[in-house]
Amino acid sequence: MDVKTETLRLLKNNKNFAARVENLLKLIEEKDKVVNSFIALNPDVLQQARQIEGLIHENKAGMLAGLVIAVKSNICVKGLITSCASKTLQNFKAPYDADVVRNVKQEHGLIIGMTNMDEFAAGSSGETSFFKPTRNPLNPELIPGGSSSGSAAAVAAGFADLALGTDTGGSVRNPASHCGVVGFRPTYGLISRYGLIDLAMSFDTVGVLSRDVYGAALLLEVISKGKHFDATSFPNAEQYFTKAAQQVLQANLESFKHLNIGIVKEFETLTDKTILKVINNAIEKFASETNSNIVELSLKHLNLGVQTYYPIVYTEFFSATRRFDGRKYGLPIENVSGSEVLRRILGGREISKAEFKGRYYRKARAALKLIKQELTDAFKKVDFIASATVPRPPHKLGTKLSVEEMYSYDALTIPASVSGIPAGTVPVVKQPFAIGLQVMAPEFQDVKVLKILRMFELL
Ligand code: GLN
Repeated sequence: MDVKTETLRLLKNNKNFAARVENLLKLIEEKDKVVNSFIALNPDVLQQARQIEGLIHENKAGMLAGLVIAVKSNICVKGLITSCASKTLQNFKAPYDADVVRNVKQEHGLIIGMTNMDEFAAGSSGETSFFKPTRNPLNPELIPGGSSSGSAAAVAAGFADLALGTDTGGSVRNPASHCGVVGFRPTYGLISRYGLIDLAMSFDTVGVLSRDVYGAALLLEVISKGKHFDATSFPNAEQYFTKAAQQVLQANLESFKHLNIGIVKEFETLTDKTILKVINNAIEKFASETNSNIVELSLKHLNLGVQTYYPIVYTEFFSATRRFDGRKYGLPIENVSGSEVLRRILGGREISKAEFKGRYYRKARAALKLIKQELTDAFKKVDFIASATVPRPPHKLGTKLSVEEMYSYDALTIPASVSGIPAGTVPVVKQPFAIGLQVMAPEFQDVKVLKILRMFELL
């Protein structure tokens, strides 16, 4: 069994789980000084590993028994510090488990710790954390991407088998792509947001990161389960992920034939030439192995993505942060936050003030409808859309980028985010820097995306 089904191998060889966890802790102690992927470790992890090992030996273990899971620090894990990598919430111990965390625990997934991130998930590079940046495990000089920087880095460095992240405009897919791991953003509303600290609630989703597509499918299957406390998520969402992991394993290049693969002209124009070449090679190979057609699409409104996403995020973030006034939780956010968080709060305040005329937020919402419509129409012609996940190579940590340059990292991930559709990334190459290939499909076709990612993984 090779690295492409590493998660399955770990699940099958889980008899000495506690010893493996002990080794992982040593590895983290030694190597995470450089990577900085964790900002809080679970103090009870070894004891919990032993309990899970006991259940494994008694044949009473759940679907995730034998796997180690890292959680982004904006998803509440009871008793652990859920700081959003901000000084604002530096001492905030979550009083309850997020729905997704409860599901992970029910299936005996072991939570090893809380991961570093861009402050309040507002970023694309992993550099805006109050707890210092995360480094890319493939090359510590480079950014790991963001905002789920620590989750991607922890999986890439082998500190955790799976990770939970959040994706508003690309924060799972972007760092997964830069760190050479799999990342997946589900259809908006399929996975509960209960216990997730908002960046922009109309786009936020919990997403998953893993070494292989099988791992991503398994974790999605688990976190979509059961009753959710989130009134805005779909009931019975688990039906969309029924046996997702098994379906992924059974998918092969023979079973998928004669597809129409969409590629988008406007995306190509935005993408760095080296990256584009790698991506197009992979798409051509996929097409020839499956006798599929490559269909060139022109989606003019996709270019509006970045311009319309940010005003909406600013406005919703401004509103979400009003509770961080220092009275109930932590410190007053404006007094202690970093410059990107402050920019969004101040920008969001201005937009909100102008909003009685519907000048920005409402206009941006209307523009997003155009993007969504264009994608819906495109999916009448193609089975899925493939592209690069991130249009530019990762920069060297600490390089000064303009705000526009930083936001341009999100150009290819934002369209799926604002349309609420599923999208995932799978690594195509890892050197000299990692490049991920993104697959998008219509709403609720999450498992189809996973299977297609799996086939790219098998190429
Ligand atoms: N980079 C985007 C932003 O800064 C995406 C963040 C996210 O998905 N959480 O808003």
